[in-house]
Amino acid sequence: MTRDPRHDILFTPMQIGPKMAKNRFYQVPHCNGGGYRDPSAVVEMRRTKAEGGWGVIFTEQTEIHPSSEITPFIEQHLWDDRDIPALARMAEAMKSHGALAGIQLAYSGINGPNLYSREVPLAVTGGPILTFTSDPVQARTMDREDIRDLRRWFRNAFRRSQQAGFDLVCLYGAHGFGILQHFLSRATNQRTDEYGGSLENRGRFLREVVEEAREETRGEMAVSLRMSLHEGGAFGFSNAELRDFIEMHGDLPDIWDLAHGTWENCSGTSRFKPEGAQEDLVSGIRDLTSKPVVGVGRFTSPDAMVRQIKSGVLDFIGAARPSIADPFLPVKVQEGRYEDIRECIGCNICVSGDLTQGISRCTQNTAFMEEWRKGWHPDRARPKGVSESVLIVGAGPAGLEAALQAARRGYRVTLAEATTTLGGRVARERALPGLSAWGRVADYRTGQMAPMTNVEIYRDSRLTAEDILSMGADHVAIATGSHWRRDAVARLHLHPIPTDPAMPLFTPDDLMAGNLPEGGRVVLYDDDHFYMGSVLAELLVSRGCTVDFVTPAVKVAEWTDNTLEQGTIMRRLLEIGVEMHLSKAPEAIAAREVVLGCTWTGRQSAVAADAVVLVTSRIPDDALFRSVRALDWQGAGIRSLKLIGDAEAPGPIAWATYAGRRWAEELDTPDRGDELSFRREIAELLPHDPITP
Ligand code: ADP
Ligand code: SF4
Repeated sequence: MTRDPRHDILFTPMQIGPKMAKNRFYQVPHCNGGGYRDPSAVVEMRRTKAEGGWGVIFTEQTEIHPSSEITPFIEQHLWDDRDIPALARMAEAMKSHGALAGIQLAYSGINGPNLYSREVPLAVTGGPILTFTSDPVQARTMDREDIRDLRRWFRNAFRRSQQAGFDLVCLYGAHGFGILQHFLSRATNQRTDEYGGSLENRGRFLREVVEEAREETRGEMAVSLRMSLHEGGAFGFSNAELRDFIEMHGDLPDIWDLAHGTWENCSGTSRFKPEGAQEDLVSGIRDLTSKPVVGVGRFTSPDAMVRQIKSGVLDFIGAARPSIADPFLPVKVQEGRYEDIRECIGCNICVSGDLTQGISRCTQNTAFMEEWRKGWHPDRARPKGVSESVLIVGAGPAGLEAALQAARRGYRVTLAEATTTLGGRVARERALPGLSAWGRVADYRTGQMAPMTNVEIYRDSRLTAEDILSMGADHVAIATGSHWRRDAVARLHLHPIPTDPAMPLFTPDDLMAGNLPEGGRVVLYDDDHFYMGSVLAELLVSRGCTVDFVTPAVKVAEWTDNTLEQGTIMRRLLEIGVEMHLSKAPEAIAAREVVLGCTWTGRQSAVAADAVVLVTSRIPDDALFRSVRALDWQGAGIRSLKLIGDAEAPGPIAWATYAGRRWAEELDTPDRGDELSFRREIAELLPHDPITP
């Protein structure tokens, strides 16, 4: 395999201030849900990026002072010297293969509620804290002394960052989260002193801090400014103003890192945003500065990357999600191994890990954040154990990942699939409006297995328990998936409700199989709260139905807050004329109408309907597993029999790929008994000295 020479430009080094980046692959700062709680897990995750060839690698948001922190979200801290060792380990890992190590320094101002530190938040202009969580907290306006303090805190952070061994500091302004942007934006800066008013004045703090970064680090560290490309609203820092600012201060930082508006805008899912979506906002900016420009766009295609550079839009290809889905993207392009690239599907499950304060996971890269916890690697597999062969039943995300990982370990793999199509649920869901990129879950895995001589895939092979016993595999995984319920049972209703059989009922499986209501008025009941309800509403409207969207939640698709999609979904449904019935749930389904109850008052109302679509919950398809278990499978020579993925417990696709990986990783490993299945770090205990008042 050789690299297409057109891609050579991606591997030309480029200067960033005093530092030289070895190539144009720039892993922009990204959260991971681990932060200060899981330092070694984050370190090893970043080390895989270094190994994978990134030229520049950043930490996530690193909070520089306890007077500004965004609890409940778990990021990094650089509050005093005690935070240096963990960050030094991070910098060392990032630099282990010649990448530049960057640290993103954050002071959140009007965005930090300080729920942990209990400090009064300080903002450019005081007011209610503007987080996702509407905390009942206000920030006070900084006076001149506060601004001097903040400059000193930034200096402390620069010194500590350098001490920790980083090459670059990134001053975080983008996404409306960072105080540098708050100074620039008239939405958040209503000051009348020398830090407010004209653009020159609003840029004063930035100029001071950048100069002080250079001074404090003796010009040895490169400085990146991460700015929003466009803030909406009448007073937002618009794209035009950003261009004016860069024209005035083009040489201020060593690199401009530009990201579209809010986080929601910048990290749109593939359902709503194509690759390279911010091109219009960024193009032309490079002509305003002599410094390099980096931007993001969920780039996974080297051709698209080269076009960004050759057409003069960007100097560096910024990536967060593509680097999560495939930490080895640069090495694969470098070696011309294009078909090995594991493309991000743009689902934002990684983001949800941060927003739920869990630890992030990735639908595509099952090793993400398990590099240290479990010793998993994005691309390498541990050698196989004592046994030889495995049988996997069902080629959905769980079965495909199980098969691929077992094959990589060196087992002889048989994968049997009942239908003629590989992919299970993604083979169906990829045909739904906006979800075509999800097909990459199947495409990547089938593509990887195609040349492997130790894998046999049987399509159109619905196995029975007897078939399984007769196949002689050492280990068997049953990954037969799940199906949607045909009743209202989910979270609100734990038992079925009265339903007249004359009302046509449909499930998501029906709709995906092409069995749709024939126009008319459809009540769609969503007690699932993720994407499926809203996607099916779009599908039904596109087929001429009028949709009444009923949900017991206070907003549609409420869990998609965690994938940054909820606002866009709400807008989309309103735009296409979907009628919302929030805080409502069906109490009875009659022949021609659905009786709804208000979830707060119980007050009833009725909606006429020609059909009802139930997006409620799923039933595991575990019958095959139970029938094998009822037979003497051990007597037939099978060493282990496991139920995995949706067939064990239905969940998002990422849960299924993880289950497949875990099964393959644990083949032929000793039973750990009650021992934890992952490593974790526990907070250091300090001496129990009472603090005397
Ligand atoms: P998961 O998300 O857990 O991977 P899916 O529902 O996506 O689950 O995939 C399950 C797959 O298993 C489907 O492609 C289905 O056709 C297949 N399957 C179900 N029962 C059998 C069986 N008895 N033999 C072979 N394949 C089966
Ligand atoms: Fe991409 Fe989804 Fe993985 Fe995030 S979780 S990196 S969006 S595939």
